[in-house]
Amino acid sequence: MEDKKKGPPISADASKCAGCLVCALRCSLRFEKEFNPAKAAIRIRRLVGAENEYEISFTEKCDNCGLCARHCPYGALIQLGKAAA
Ligand code: SF4
Ligand code: SF4
Repeated sequence: MEDKKKGPPISADASKCAGCLVCALRCSLRFEKEFNPAKAAIRIRRLVGAENEYEISFTEKCDNCGLCARHCPYGALIQLGKAAA
């Protein structure tokens, strides 16, 4: 069985997430050539009843390309196995 994943898994630390959506915008730009978080392979959801708490998840479409992790300004996404620059 061929593994279509491009890289090591992305580790998400939701406690560091600020909900900026940079990751989702970058991901949707890659897949759809547009800035549309609804079309990204990463989903950022604000927790109900919380002002600044988020839940991070990935859809089946995610192939661990690492773009979102590279662009997250808050260090909430880390691609495992890649040393921090
Ligand atoms: S690793 Fe790539 S495909 Fe997966 S959510 Fe991040 S940018 Fe999108
Ligand atoms: S780029 Fe980072 S801080 Fe911004 S929404 Fe995505 S995971 Fe959260």
